[in-house]
Amino acid sequence: MAATVSEISRGLEAGEFSSVEITQEYLERIDKHNPTLNCFISVTGEIALEQAKTADTVRAEGNADRLTGIPLAHKDLFCTDGVRTSCASRILDNFIAPYDATVIEKFRAAGAVMLGKTNMDEFAMGSSNENSYYGHVANPWNISRVPGGSSGGSAAAVAAGLAPGATGTDTGGSIRQPAALCGVTGIKPTYGRVSRYGMIAYGSSLDQGGPFARSAEDCALLLQTMAGFDQRDSTSSEEAVPDFSATLGESIEGLRIGLPKEYFAEGLDGKIAGVIETAIDELRRLGAEICDISLPNTGLSIPTYYVIAMAECSSNLSRFDGVRFGYRCDNPVDLEDLYKRSRGEGFGAEVKRRIMIGTYALSAGYYDAYYLKAQQLRRLIKQDFQQAFSEVDLILGPTTPETAFSIGAKTDDPVSMYLQDIYTISLNLAGLPGMSLPVGFSDGLPVGMQLIGNYFDEARLLNTAFAYQQVSDWHLRVPEAFK
Ligand code: GLN
Repeated sequence: MAATVSEISRGLEAGEFSSVEITQEYLERIDKHNPTLNCFISVTGEIALEQAKTADTVRAEGNADRLTGIPLAHKDLFCTDGVRTSCASRILDNFIAPYDATVIEKFRAAGAVMLGKTNMDEFAMGSSNENSYYGHVANPWNISRVPGGSSGGSAAAVAAGLAPGATGTDTGGSIRQPAALCGVTGIKPTYGRVSRYGMIAYGSSLDQGGPFARSAEDCALLLQTMAGFDQRDSTSSEEAVPDFSATLGESIEGLRIGLPKEYFAEGLDGKIAGVIETAIDELRRLGAEICDISLPNTGLSIPTYYVIAMAECSSNLSRFDGVRFGYRCDNPVDLEDLYKRSRGEGFGAEVKRRIMIGTYALSAGYYDAYYLKAQQLRRLIKQDFQQAFSEVDLILGPTTPETAFSIGAKTDDPVSMYLQDIYTISLNLAGLPGMSLPVGFSDGLPVGMQLIGNYFDEARLLNTAFAYQQVSDWHLRVPEAFK
């Protein structure tokens, strides 16, 4: 089923079907395909139908918004009032959130329908969605391949037509990377654009929520609802939110797009490079001016990120102590035993690895050598982008160095897994917005192209992707088994 959010919105508006009908259809598809794909940790059918009924009433009364009655799926780290919010971890397996994240609250207020909570890497740590307590997610284009991570459940759900749109979060690439590997469109906004309130923290200075959908047009609609200042998040920005849909369709004639030479160097799969070259030609035909640029500190981004992200996660995850939230071990003999066994049994291997490395990097004797150094490098990486944006309007590159790899191929080699983030991670360090859109296939698997914008320039990213999607149909392709 290839319906987009915009198509469903128009169909509801025209009275072609009701929200209850379309919601039922998606719930049936989830029922049928989730056993194969494992995209959803929780399916909230009853809530969905209840919300759909309300949406139909609101529409009948003439008060519908563009998202009223649209079924959506949410990554299972957005707190949802009264619904399990597990972060794909055993430690939160029994956690029922007592309130809604701001993002969820906004979708609720807009009248959107929640189909369920999607699978992910535990606490959003991963690049393949193989680190979930609930098992891996399969890629709808080839179920022996990973969907990408950490928001793999959301990306796969959209790709397979189990939801027309979904939310995700991106700390080092977790919206863009699974979007690329599953052949859907996803945008990671500027840090601060979308409230992090109620979004369970991984790396607080890096985390940012954003949408997945089939098209840039849909992403504009969804981001519109998600974005905006929130006084409950002290890092949320007061920058005005433009009407993202209003600028779609503007000409990209004269748009200056920079290609970082470091992104097209060794390490990039030749076939991916070829597919992206073709997409660049298309943008050239649309009037964009393409030039070469350099982001000289690209090679430092992975070590820098993995020190900062692990340091921040070791601090953020200290709140899961067996006392306040979630899992508690059986029969602790004393408090220390309770902490040790609850955390030891509750967290998975990758999460423990990161807490240990992060704690080490922050310890008194090593703080200067690792954490402080990483913060200094972070500044250099940010300066690279500032320099580049004095010459160009947008930066373009691949989203990932490879297409979707086989399940299990990298699970024993964390470093090769971390290398998957080479093109996505530096944006989070700089706080910049980026998006991934499908631009073709290599050996039957989707290839994603990444567009990187200057601060708060999401509208330009969305419009450029929209322009490309007006002259291509890669984003509308649906895997054979899920038509
Ligand atoms: N792959 C990166 C990590 O494991 C990024 C994950 C993310 O963006 N949440 O940390």
